[in-house]
Amino acid sequence: MPTPLQPPRGTHDLIGDDFRRHHHVVETARRVVTLYGFEEWATPIFEDTRVFSRTLGETSDVVTKEMYSFADRGGDSITLRPENTAGICRALVTNGLTQGLPRKVFYAGPMFRYERPQKGRTRQFHQIGAEILGAPEPLADAEVIAAGWHILNALGVGEGVVLEINTLGDTESRDAYRAALVAYFSAHRDVLSEDSRMRLEKNPLRILDSKNEGDRQIVACAPDTREHLQQAAATLYAEVQSYLTRFGVPFRENPRIVRGLDYYSHTAFEFVTDRLGAQGTVMAGGRYNGLVEEMGGPPTPSVGWAAGIERLAMLLTQAPAPPRPVAVIPVGEAQEAAALDLAARLRAAGMVAEIAYRGNLKRRMERANKLHARAALILGEEETARGVVQLRDLDAGTQESMTAEDAVARLRS
Ligand code: ATP
Ligand code: MG
Repeated sequence: MPTPLQPPRGTHDLIGDDFRRHHHVVETARRVVTLYGFEEWATPIFEDTRVFSRTLGETSDVVTKEMYSFADRGGDSITLRPENTAGICRALVTNGLTQGLPRKVFYAGPMFRYERPQKGRTRQFHQIGAEILGAPEPLADAEVIAAGWHILNALGVGEGVVLEINTLGDTESRDAYRAALVAYFSAHRDVLSEDSRMRLEKNPLRILDSKNEGDRQIVACAPDTREHLQQAAATLYAEVQSYLTRFGVPFRENPRIVRGLDYYSHTAFEFVTDRLGAQGTVMAGGRYNGLVEEMGGPPTPSVGWAAGIERLAMLLTQAPAPPRPVAVIPVGEAQEAAALDLAARLRAAGMVAEIAYRGNLKRRMERANKLHARAALILGEEETARGVVQLRDLDAGTQESMTAEDAVARLRS
């Protein structure tokens, strides 16, 4: 026998409870964002590599280490999407949708990053995300965050999660902050990790996002973004905060949050929890005012977030239960046709019907119990001749005979 094949490292099959948790996260998010006027888009899971290399930052971890890129048979450089914001902005431009903004877009689907797999970190993972495209107003920042908070609460996980916010300010603020960081980290150069010493040359902000323990100690005392904010940027940030309060979203400021991708400016935020160990960020995002332009579109200030579905699914206290079927059981081959008709009637009435394929009455009842059926409709030879069926309530253990119509009506109520 050949050795059984394994799924690729860092990937998972979603089966049973795992699938139901996943599905529940997506469906809940869909329902909530609809209330805020978002429409759902689906973009390709692979894109021209430049969609990401141009926009996420040549020195970002994602671009330097994590992308699944390959030349396809025609020689084009293709990348499995590591995130979906760049793809959404690309789609906005290529579909000629840059007029009539703002637009609110929701998405859900798989993302791919070549990472070291660990709890809460896989190579194929899934995200839900929300973007408000073409809205410079601080109200947009607050509303997209409020929609995210609403989702967390609808999932019942809001209590264990805290919103942390920060601002990176405009270009001037960011440059001033960057200079302060370079001065600070240069003084601690010899104790920084090798990666962070490289970041110091190329992109010092990224050191704040380092996962290295030693780096994190240095980062703890690093300069504060707020000390380097231009007045206009500070005003915007204050307005975002006051709208968040208006929306009833609790938050705390964390002046060390910078997002790992280059396209962010102004608001940056993360919803974090201490319930998932090291991988505690469940939802993260910020404002990205230049991204659509980098895709060849007009200036389109935008804001959004993405959330890891697996991490949210892990926070759910309970997996949603599968629906309980009604088992339709013919006693003997002659009753099979009537059983199929009855199953069709149940389904037409919106109920889950399960036809046991094989075995005698006893075996089929065992199967019904195994499927956690709520009821069994038993079609015996003599009853079918009289036009009745047996309805057995599998929780109460009671059994009654009645017409098929009555049984369907009873099960529906
Ligand atoms: P981290 O700092 O943990 O690497 P990130 O900044 O790379 O996160 P984002 O690009 O902001 O993450 O992605 C948003 C969310 O997607 C994360 O907060 C997380 O919930 C989820 N996520 C990101 N990468 C992975 C992964 N490899 N496996 C599972 N979930 C992930
Ligand atoms: Mg990452």
